[in-house]
Amino acid sequence: MGRYTGPVCRLCRRMGTKLFLKGERCFTPRCAVEKRRSAPGEQTREGASRRRISEHGMQLREKQKARFIYGLLERQFSNDVGKASRTKGSTGQLLMELLERRLDNVVYRLGFAGSRKQARQMVGHGHFRLNGRAVNIPSLTLKSGDSVSWREKSTKSNYYKTMVESLPQRPVPQWLELDKKNVTGKVVALPAPSDIDTSIDTRPIVEYYSRR
Ligand code: SF4
Repeated sequence: MGRYTGPVCRLCRRMGTKLFLKGERCFTPRCAVEKRRSAPGEQTREGASRRRISEHGMQLREKQKARFIYGLLERQFSNDVGKASRTKGSTGQLLMELLERRLDNVVYRLGFAGSRKQARQMVGHGHFRLNGRAVNIPSLTLKSGDSVSWREKSTKSNYYKTMVESLPQRPVPQWLELDKKNVTGKVVALPAPSDIDTSIDTRPIVEYYSRR
């Protein structure tokens, strides 16, 4: 399954919750979920009956929701689930840790990008350094002690200047440390469940993959 390229607000309406895919707009009354709380097609009787879904449907839906939030392809997502299930501990919690520790997500959480999609593009274009080294792989898993800084050339852009003025754009989770003065970020701990402000329920996701 390829990456979804249609209107992203439609995904939120389909899932019935905010997935925060559009940056700034998601925090304003212009958000499509705020304006219109029904899912596409739900206004009709046909749409309403379609919404009564099976347990498998629920599991599939929660998996899709997580995939959309983090912007992952099915293959990438199922690899992460596999990695989490092979590690000792709660698979659901380990999965969320892996998703949160992705470099693109860290860039987003630090407020260097307005959305995870934008963060992925910026990492891909080489705007960041990881522990002082050039990096362009959004899926890299960061560990405690890793630091993220900007490539010097990128600090000359208008985007950078505006972004710096509005830091922190959002509350920075406790497992990350934002150095506003130097515009750098550091991983200071592993993300705890209380640090992860998404509406994802990992239990149906783990059940979905355990059946396959
Ligand atoms: Fe989803 Fe953001 Fe669009 Fe709202 S504005 S529907 S949260 S992508």
